[in-house]
Amino acid sequence: MAMELPDQRLRQREYLLKISRAITAQLDLTSVLDLVITVAVEMLAGNAGLIALSDDELGTEPTPPQQIYAAAGIPSAALPAFRRLLALPIETLGKPNASAVLREIAGETGLPLRQVIALPLTVAAAPVGTIYVFRAALNVSFNVDEARLLQAFADQAAIAVSNARLYQSVLREKQRLDAMIEQSADGVMIIDARWRITTFNKAMEQLTGWNRTEAIGRPCAEVLGVRDAQGANICLVDCPLQRRPPLNNPIVEGWLTSRDGRERYIQSRYAAQRSSTGAFLGAIANVRDITEQKRDEQLQNTFISVISHELKTPVSIIKGYASTFQREDAAWTLAAMREGFRVIEAEADRLARQIQDLLDVSRLQASGMRLELSDWSLPELAASVVQAFAAQTQDRFTFELRFTDDLPPVHADYERIRMVLTNLISNAIKYSPHGGRIRIGGHPLPELNQALGYVADQGEGIPPEEQERIFERFYRIDNRLRRTTQGAGLGLYLSRAIIEAHGGKIYVESQVGRGSRFIFTLPLARRQITGETV
Ligand code: ADP
Repeated sequence: MAMELPDQRLRQREYLLKISRAITAQLDLTSVLDLVITVAVEMLAGNAGLIALSDDELGTEPTPPQQIYAAAGIPSAALPAFRRLLALPIETLGKPNASAVLREIAGETGLPLRQVIALPLTVAAAPVGTIYVFRAALNVSFNVDEARLLQAFADQAAIAVSNARLYQSVLREKQRLDAMIEQSADGVMIIDARWRITTFNKAMEQLTGWNRTEAIGRPCAEVLGVRDAQGANICLVDCPLQRRPPLNNPIVEGWLTSRDGRERYIQSRYAAQRSSTGAFLGAIANVRDITEQKRDEQLQNTFISVISHELKTPVSIIKGYASTFQREDAAWTLAAMREGFRVIEAEADRLARQIQDLLDVSRLQASGMRLELSDWSLPELAASVVQAFAAQTQDRFTFELRFTDDLPPVHADYERIRMVLTNLISNAIKYSPHGGRIRIGGHPLPELNQALGYVADQGEGIPPEEQERIFERFYRIDNRLRRTTQGAGLGLYLSRAIIEAHGGKIYVESQVGRGSRFIFTLPLARRQITGETV
C-alpha cells in the first residue's frame, strides 16, 4: 500500500531497494558503501557521514582500529581529523567528552558538525565497523525513528561488507590454489564436462610444448595425446574417464610427443568430479614425466635378454664340445681335439670378457671408476694388441700403426686402455664384413697436454643419427650385421666411461659404406722439472 506510506518511508524503501540491488550487482565494496552513506545522510537530514570498518579481519583484537571506507559531505583532506572520533566507543558519543571531540573536529575542519549519531555494523553478531551521520542543527536531535532508519542502512552496509569479505577470502583461496597448481612440479590440467582444458600449468607447458593460451579450450585428447605401444591415441580410443562403470582412480600411461618433437613417457592420474547421478562434471589430471623410469625398465629387460643370449652362446658351444669329446663311439684325431680345445678356450675367454664387462657396468653405476695411473707408451700398447688380433684374422685384414715419433708417454690406466683398444679393434674387425685396412695411430695435442689416438677401418660405417647412440648401454645398430655378429652393446659404453674417467673424450667420425674412425684423447705424462717428458 505504497500510497498510504508517508513520503519519507517510501523514499527509504526505494533507497534500501537501490542499495540491495547495488549489493547484488557489484562486488565493489567502496561503491556500495558510498551509496549507503550518501543515502543515509540524505534520509537523516544530515550534512555529513562516514562509514568506518575495522581492519582486523580475524577479529583477534578486542577493539581493532577502524579505517574510513566511505564518506559523504566531508572533503578527503578533512578525513584524518575524524580518527579521534573513531577511537571513541559508540555509547559515549552523546556524552560531553565526545561532544568536545566533535567540536574540536568541527573547529579544525571548518565543517558545521554539531550532532552525531552512530551505529555498529555487525556481521554474524560480530561488530565489523560503524556508520556515522552528522548534523549541523543543534535544536532537533536524532530521535528513535531515525536511529531505526540508520539501523536499516547499517544492516545493508554490513551485508555488503560480509559479501565483500567472503568474496575476498574466496579470491585469496583461489589465488593460493592457482599458485599451488602453477608451481607444482607435476603437470596439472583441469578439464570441464565437455573434456575441454580450463587450467594448464607451467609444468604442463614444458611437458607438452603447448602454450597455455593455445591449450586452454581445446579437447584434452588433442593436447595430451598419449600413445600406447602400437601408436594408438589412448585418450581417443580408450579414455579411462569414460569407462562404464566409472573407474575409481583412472590412470593413463604412454608415450607423448611434445610439440617440439621430444618423446616422453608420461603417467596421467585423474580425479573426476561427478554429479549425484554419475554425470561427468570435470576432472583434474596430474601428469608426470616417467621417461627415466620407463627407460630403466626397458634397459632391465634388454639386460636380461642380452645376458641370456650372450652368455648362453659360449656356454652351449663349450658344452657341445665337452659332450662330443665324451662320446665313446667317436675316435678323435689329435688335430681335431686341439681345434676343439682351442674353440673351448676362445669361448671361455669370451664368456670371461662378457662377465667382466657386466661387472664393470654394474660397478660403474655403483661407485664410478677407480683408475691405476702410470706413464707408458701408447704405440707400444697398440702394437701388442694388434699382434694378438693379426694372428687371428689371417689375410682378411691389414693392420697399420701410424703414431708420430713426437708422441710422449701417456698418463693412464694401462689395463683399461688395453681394454678400450681391444674393443675398438675388435669392432673394426666385426663391422668390416669384407675385411680391409685397419689403421691405428696417434699424435700429441701439446696445447691440451693430451695424446690423440684413433682406430680407423674401411667397414660398413655408421649413419650420422646413430653416432652418439652407439655409446649408450646395450645399444646396437639395428641392421644386418647386428644379427650376424655377436655383442652386447657394452664395449663402446665402457670405452667412453674409461676415457672420460681419464678426463678425455671419445667420439666417432664415419661415413656409411666407407668406414669409421674412433678418436679418443688421453692425458700425457707430466713433464719433469728438467723439461723432459716421462
Ligand atoms: P657390440 O659390438 O657388442 O654390439 P659396442 O658397444 O662395441 O657393442 O658397439 C655398439 C654398436 O656400435 C655395435 O653394435 C655396432 O652397431 C656399432 N659399431 C661399433 N663399432 C663399429 C664400427 N667400427 N663400424 C660400424 N659400426 C660399429
